[in-house]
Order: sequence, then structure tokens, then C-alpha cells
Amino acid sequence: MAKYYLCTESIVELVEVGPVPQEDTAMAKGLKSLLPKPSHIHGRRSSITYAIAASASPYAVPTEAEFNEMLQILGMDRDHLRCVFCNKPTKRLGHLNALVEDRQPTGWGTTIGNLVPVCSTCGSRRGNQPWAEWLQQQATDKTWPGHANVIETTKRLTLLEQRFPDQRLVWSQKIPPDLAQEFRDLQAEVIESLDRLHKIGTKIKAYFGAQS
Ligand SMILES: [Zn+2]
Repeated sequence: MAKYYLCTESIVELVEVGPVPQEDTAMAKGLKSLLPKPSHIHGRRSSITYAIAASASPYAVPTEAEFNEMLQILGMDRDHLRCVFCNKPTKRLGHLNALVEDRQPTGWGTTIGNLVPVCSTCGSRRGNQPWAEWLQQQATDKTWPGHANVIETTKRLTLLEQRFPDQRLVWSQKIPPDLAQEFRDLQAEVIESLDRLHKIGTKIKAYFGAQS
């Protein structure tokens, strides 16, 4: 006996196989956790949007002198890098200010003045929040390892920002407006195409009787 499922714009004929027994459903849920995750364009929308915006951000490897000066301002020594926020040892540099805000490049980049030693915990906890605001929030938590140094850290980070050029000025004052607009328009087109692809992909999946 044929069973019909109504899709958004078409009717798909599927062969009815009868109700799935309860125990099979429970087993299928358990098995689902073993499967590769289904590919959803919507799930990648924000990372693609971010990648596009970040692609217009400045990138420059600091000179040795600049790198050493940055560490000097932060009161650190090169062989013992510590997270600028919580003071834990770290071997990575992160962005002090977000490269992307509201899907658009901020002008901040991977450049001296916007690079500081940051541990992965502080990096992921802070996300895109402005550093000064985030630091003030952390200051209310007396159990947080960086609690005692908030005032000193704020002072040093402010000095760092004053010492090196603010790249946002380049974005707002030197990038030709028509070039910036073309960038935004193309980014919007890509996002619109992703949404259309998502809808079409979901329709195609439905022909297989597949779960979305
Ligand atoms: Zn940290």
C-alpha cells in the first residue's frame, strides 16, 4: 500500500513498511549517537559568515621588536607566556578585540596591538565580548584566578592599545565605500544562496524519506 507525504512543493510517494516497533526506535536513537553527524548548511551559516568577514581583516606577523615590546607592556617574558586574563601558562596568542561584529569586519586583525597571550579557557569563555567589559564581569567572581589582577591587567591592556595603531581607523577612513559595499553585498548574496541551498537540500533528502 502506498503512502503519500506532502513536501513543500511536491508529493513524494513512499512505500509503507508499517509502524516501527518501540524497541527499534530506542535502538535507533542509541545508534544515531554512533553515526557521523548529518550535514546541515544552517549549522555552518555562522561560521561561513564569520570566515567571509574575517577574510577582509588585516594580518601581519609582528617583528621581533614589536613582539618583545608587547610582552614588556604586559610584564611578561617570552619563555614564560601567561594568559593575560587569568595568568595561567599558555603557548598561544589570541585576539584582544573581535575581528567580526554583526557579521562585518571590525577592522581589528591579526596584528601587533591586537595580539595577546590568552589561554583557551578564557578565549572561549569571553567569545566576542569586549575585553574590558568581560574583565569587569570576571572581577565579581572572587574564585576566578585573575581576580586580584583586574585593575593592573586593565591598565596594561589599555597601554598596549594606545601604543599600537588602531586598525579600525583604516577600515572606516581608508577603505573606499564602494569597495566595502561590494563586499557586504556579495556576503549577503552568499548567505542568501546558503539559505536557498539549505531548503533545496532538505527537499532532496525528503525524496529518500530521510530525516533532516
Ligand atoms: Zn586564561
